[in-house]
Amino acid sequence: MINQTAYALGANRSCIRDLFEYGRARAAVVGEENVFDFTLGNPSIPSPAEVNETICRILKDTDSLLVHGYTTAVGDWETRQAIAADLNSRYGANTGAEDFFLGSGAAPELVAVFRALAVEGGEILAIAPYFPEYKPFAENAGLIFKVVPPDVPNFQISLPAVEAMLTERTQAVILNSPNNPSGVVYTRQTLEQLSALLERKAAQYGHPIYIISDEPYRELAYGVEVPFLPLIYRDTVVCYSYSKSLSLPGERIGYVYVPKEAADSRALYAAIAGAARACGHVCAPSLWQKVIARCTHLRPDLASYDRNRRTLYEGLTKLGYETAKPDGAFYLFVKAPGGDANAFLEKAKQKDLLVVPGDGFGCPGYFRLCYCVSYDKIVRSLPVFGELMG
Ligand code: PLP
Repeated sequence: MINQTAYALGANRSCIRDLFEYGRARAAVVGEENVFDFTLGNPSIPSPAEVNETICRILKDTDSLLVHGYTTAVGDWETRQAIAADLNSRYGANTGAEDFFLGSGAAPELVAVFRALAVEGGEILAIAPYFPEYKPFAENAGLIFKVVPPDVPNFQISLPAVEAMLTERTQAVILNSPNNPSGVVYTRQTLEQLSALLERKAAQYGHPIYIISDEPYRELAYGVEVPFLPLIYRDTVVCYSYSKSLSLPGERIGYVYVPKEAADSRALYAAIAGAARACGHVCAPSLWQKVIARCTHLRPDLASYDRNRRTLYEGLTKLGYETAKPDGAFYLFVKAPGGDANAFLEKAKQKDLLVVPGDGFGCPGYFRLCYCVSYDKIVRSLPVFGELMG
């Protein structure tokens, strides 16, 4: 006998993966340069050179048994201390090593936090558009997953919509800013208003409502502020990842930050560690913990993403496409001409242009473009988008 929920998750391939493979197959026929594949969120800027240099230095100056050995489950103290010092100097976070749990990227960190908050009948709210994996992560943890309708056309957060969905069973709200798939950065005003609402409701219900801040794109912002949520809302837990900020998605390294000030902070921290343990977490990759300890000061060079972003946004807007202002991450979320994103995709496929329909992000009628592709492809895709508008 096989667990049918697990089977369904494994057997039903993701739409993004299918499209990507379709793009590979077309590239073999018509040539790589003739396929405009905007589907996959894989970073296209290299890691800063200092990352690779640091690996080499560690391999030279550190005992190999230490480099490759198990670390404690929560992660090396030095690494957690370095991350705390970085957040203290950037935001005045008032934190220390003991507030951090090193994980293998945001995905397993989110799973651990969801499981730590999964009480009988507990609910979690996601704001559309949202990262599709939240749903299986939450439901598999035993939480009831509820989606707050999108705040169109700006894709900030509709407070009345959140208020309408909060109940006494709400355990957490998951936020992701800069956002996948919209590229929108939630403003300080949006976050302060949400914070006031959650504080009021938590007091009414007599228990905390946590914000889980999913932050793989924290460092990918183009001239706008990405407010540091724990300083706006006390009961925030941060899931951070170096997958996009240092272009290390295959290396699996990140952290959970549980601020001391958060409600039941130490119990929550222990529950996150326990939930990770129950999912088979042993420790985050040891070499990468040591790299991060020496690289917390590094930030990505966003020049090429920014050029792609501006060219695509301006080009599409001129052609008459409507899209939210993409201030962060590497995505554009575009309203499908005619209103049907799946029909648009079928039309676009005829021209070897691939986009991801918004249905899986909780936002039908829109499609996502991932602009971590070559600048040349961006420029050459614009006439194709023009034809698709006609
Ligand atoms: N959350 C969001 C919004 C993402 O876009 C991604 C990856 O694309 C993840 C989490 C998972 O990232 P990681 O590679 O750190 O597990």
